[in-house]
Amino acid sequence: MIVKLLVFVVVLLIIYVAFFKKASPAQKKRETEDKKIGSDIMIECSECSTFVSEKEAIIKDGKFFCSKQCAKLR
Ligand SMILES: [Zn+2]
Repeated sequence: MIVKLLVFVVVLLIIYVAFFKKASPAQKKRETEDKKIGSDIMIECSECSTFVSEKEAIIKDGKFFCSKQCAKLR
């Protein structure tokens, strides 16, 4: 009976460690993504003066544009 209990505890530990190892990198990734969103820089479009996030902005000839239409990339 004691052996069975030990095996049960070991299995539980393995499951716990497996879950813990899987959960922690995802949580860290989520934290860094939140930080990126928090520090997102807004840039003014050179064409229509609309503010867009740095990620969405289109850079052409050293100027920032809100869309392909404004950058005349069509
Ligand atoms: Zn624009």
